[in-house]
Amino acid sequence: MGERKRDAAAVRPSYTAPFGGTSAGGARDAVREARPSGGGYAAPARDPWSAGTRAQETGKVPDQVWRAAFGAAAAETKPEFPELYWIGQLHGTYIVAQNDGGLYLIDQHAAHERIHYEIYYEKFGDPAAASQELLLPVTLSFAPDEYAAIRGKLPWFELAGVYLEDFGGNTFIVRAVPHWLPEGDEADIVREMAEWILKERGIDLHKIREKAAILCSCKASIKANQALTREAGETLLRRLAACKQPYTCPHGRPIVVSFTTYELEKMFKRVMS
Ligand SMILES: [Zn+2]
Repeated sequence: MGERKRDAAAVRPSYTAPFGGTSAGGARDAVREARPSGGGYAAPARDPWSAGTRAQETGKVPDQVWRAAFGAAAAETKPEFPELYWIGQLHGTYIVAQNDGGLYLIDQHAAHERIHYEIYYEKFGDPAAASQELLLPVTLSFAPDEYAAIRGKLPWFELAGVYLEDFGGNTFIVRAVPHWLPEGDEADIVREMAEWILKERGIDLHKIREKAAILCSCKASIKANQALTREAGETLLRRLAACKQPYTCPHGRPIVVSFTTYELEKMFKRVMS
C-alpha cells in the first residue's frame, strides 16, 4: 500500500545506472542509454522512471533498469555490488555513500525490502512446516461474491501456509499463518493476499510465493522518513551487497542511483569532454 502511495506522489529521481556491473561494456552502454544526467543537471532523453512504473503494473522489472543493473547478458548471474562507505543519510530516506568510483544514493526502504524479499522468498518455499495457529484468531469479512470466490480458492492460501476457516456469513477466520510473518501485520497481509488472489487469473506456486514474499517484505521494512544510525546503515549496505538482485526492489523500482567521479567532474566542468 505504502508503495502505491509513493508512486502516486510521482517523486521522480533521476536514475543513473549503477556502475561496476558484471559486464563493463554492457553496463556502460546501458548507462549511456538509460541515464539522465545526474542531479537534474540536464533533462533525460528518455524517462526510464515512467517506463518503470508502467512495467511495474505488469509485474516485470523494467527492461532498462534490468539491463543497466545486470548487463545484457548477465540476467542469470548475481551482479557485482560495489563496496560502499557510509557518508550519511538524506531526508531520512536515502543513504548517501561513496567509494573510489563515485557517489551513491540508496533508497533505504527499497534496499531493506529487497533484503527481506529474498529471505521471505526462501521461507515461502515450505511455509506449511512453519504454520502456526494464531493465539487470537482474526476474522475477515467479504462481499458475498468475493466470499464465494475465496471459498473456491482456499488451497492457494494454504500454499502460502495460511489456513482460513469458513465461518459463514461472508466471513472467514484466519486460523493459522507461518510464524515468521511480520508480527502484528498478519491480518493485513492475509487481507492483501486475498485481494490479490481474487483479482489474479492464473495463479501458480511461483506467483503466490513471490506475492506473499513481497507483502511480507514491504511490511517488515523500514520506511522513508526514518532516521538510521551509521551502524544500521552500514549493516544495510552489507546485506544489500549480498542480495541476488541488489539493484531493484521486488516491485521493480531502482534501489541505487549513482554518479561516477567522471560524471561529477563533467558536471562541475573540471573536465571538458
Ligand atoms: Zn518496492
